[in-house]
Amino acid sequence: MKTAWKKYNDTDLKNVFELSEKYKKFLDSAKTEREACAQAIKIAENYGYQDISKYSSLKPGDKVYFNNRDKAICLYHIGSDDIVSGLNILGAHIDSPRIDLKQNPLYETDGLVLFDTHYYGGIKKYQWVAQPLSLHGVVVKKNGEKINISIGENENDPVFGISDLLIHLSKDQLEKKGSVVIEGEDLNAFVGSNDNKLSPKDAILKLFKDNYDIEEADFSSAELELVPAGKARDYGLDRSMIMAYGHDDRVCAYTSLYAMMQIENPARTSCTILVDKEEVGSNGATGMHSRFFENTIAEVLDKMNKYSELNVRRILTNSFMLSSDVNCAFDPNYPSVNEKKNTAFLGKGVVFTKYTGARGKSGCNDANPEFYAKIRNIMDKHNITYQTGELGKVDQGGGGTIAYILANLNMEVIDCGIGLHNMHACYEVASKADIYEMYSCYIKFLEEMK
Ligand code: MN
Ligand code: MN
Repeated sequence: MKTAWKKYNDTDLKNVFELSEKYKKFLDSAKTEREACAQAIKIAENYGYQDISKYSSLKPGDKVYFNNRDKAICLYHIGSDDIVSGLNILGAHIDSPRIDLKQNPLYETDGLVLFDTHYYGGIKKYQWVAQPLSLHGVVVKKNGEKINISIGENENDPVFGISDLLIHLSKDQLEKKGSVVIEGEDLNAFVGSNDNKLSPKDAILKLFKDNYDIEEADFSSAELELVPAGKARDYGLDRSMIMAYGHDDRVCAYTSLYAMMQIENPARTSCTILVDKEEVGSNGATGMHSRFFENTIAEVLDKMNKYSELNVRRILTNSFMLSSDVNCAFDPNYPSVNEKKNTAFLGKGVVFTKYTGARGKSGCNDANPEFYAKIRNIMDKHNITYQTGELGKVDQGGGGTIAYILANLNMEVIDCGIGLHNMHACYEVASKADIYEMYSCYIKFLEEMK
């Protein structure tokens, strides 16, 4: 079993751990798609990228980003080649499974105040109870004013939480199937209990009014998300892994973005797309199904005096994409769900997944071998550690990503990413070596794919 760790010299090891420290800081400040988008813009501006509105025309060497409603972002570094010869694209998603507040969330019962919620994405609900949760998001008032909220990340902040039943009284609960041990409508989060001067609910409303100038009705035009509270941590005595909320898919998003920042004077135009809503099917204005991405190509062409519908179509057809998302890493605690020859392992580098889907590859993007052969060539040339892997053995389950949506535009797309343990749990686990290999892979892909 040969991992990426084996090949590292002392300088490499230093680089691996340095990248991980930067990534952990990103995770700590990017717990939602909005926060990830804001962080991405901050990083990009540090590297000389500017909002498209700042440019009246674009030329080779220019670095530009498009912000889609603060929840998705698309960046371009214009290359010296004719842009119509296609883009080298990195794509990943910045939304993660979580617990969203309903539109009328706040209620009082039995002297306690709770938030009613609707979970977002595929979660094993029993994993999300009896955990410290923080509240992130925005409340938009009728006058358009947007209030940012983040409660529960600082050490002195209070946290929220969903209760679980004490073991002493769980006889009936533990007889239930795993999928209904905790039911969706029972994911109610505790907010308060103090009735010293006001009713507990009125006391909570007063706190929101005093601290944020929000009325109860304002919750109906809000996006408030409960996520696991706290910071990303090193995992394992050798600190070889990171345990954190939201690796899926901010690990691919961050490394894609950070790789893009390292590109200098590209021949083919580099592009990175970070999108929202992957965990719920990629629909809506900020998901990958949105026309946003195609619109950005049209805008870029327009600012280069090259716009035509035909040129947009030609760029799409001539483009190459690494569509990145996390994968399943073999877990010796649960060996039965994988077929070992075709499974990713922690530490063995970037995972390329020719096809995803479930039950006979249904719904997959099946990447073309001509394209994957070119990728193998680049990876081997630069001694990047990579592996192939399927999401579980045949008919065990499966999953989808944004890959097919881009492939439907008739470009070459392959799924890649890194393997995780605990995917979609409150705290997921990734290998620092894999994170570094993926970052290196992205740089070489942007520089050399053609
Ligand atoms: Mn994902
Ligand atoms: Mn996911």
